[in-house]
Amino acid sequence: MSDELKTHLCEIAMNLNEKGLNHGATGNVSVRSENGFYITPSGLVNKDLHPDVIVELDFDGNKLNQKNNFNPSSEWLFHKDLLKTNSAINAIVHTHSPYATAMSLTQTKLDSFHYMIAVAGGHDIRFAKYAMFGTQELSNNILEAMKDRKACIIANHGVVCTGTDLNEASDIAEEIEHLCQIYILANQVSKPNLLSREDMNEVINRFHNYSRWRKK
Ligand SMILES: [Zn+2]
Repeated sequence: MSDELKTHLCEIAMNLNEKGLNHGATGNVSVRSENGFYITPSGLVNKDLHPDVIVELDFDGNKLNQKNNFNPSSEWLFHKDLLKTNSAINAIVHTHSPYATAMSLTQTKLDSFHYMIAVAGGHDIRFAKYAMFGTQELSNNILEAMKDRKACIIANHGVVCTGTDLNEASDIAEEIEHLCQIYILANQVSKPNLLSREDMNEVINRFHNYSRWRKK
């Protein structure tokens, strides 16, 4: 089972590169394991990932398999904190995808300009305040922005998406990238119209019963 999970983790991480959501060694992916979580390693381009290089950590940040000489992604701290504090989360996908990262520079929250904003679990997608990557401060900012949400944009950095499994976290990352792309396109014509809170609540309730976008 653990080998199967590590293989799936590698497939998801490599697919993010193939879809243009990550490039080179950027971004990272994790999934809950029996005693902690598996995470992609530091310093390896995503196309070279395979199950033997995946690092397993416990919720104190200790490596569980000492035979593995790889270090976890430098951004492991927010993966640990999200998985430790929210039992509904089983997988995390972090990307520097182009349109979401472009939006991250504006530090404008993604409001209800399209009903699919609800894939992140609410009527908007918040920004986590900028802090140096890999720090406790950044992890705290991400946890704050993720309250009652499945995803957030990290200011001047990228996007973090969670899910009940790897497929859901990856699907949300792909959807948010598309939403950011159409938002940027629409802004070239005029300021986008926003859906009402009532309209968004209706979508959020609908997604609650819709397996693809399960509500936490
Ligand atoms: Zn990053």
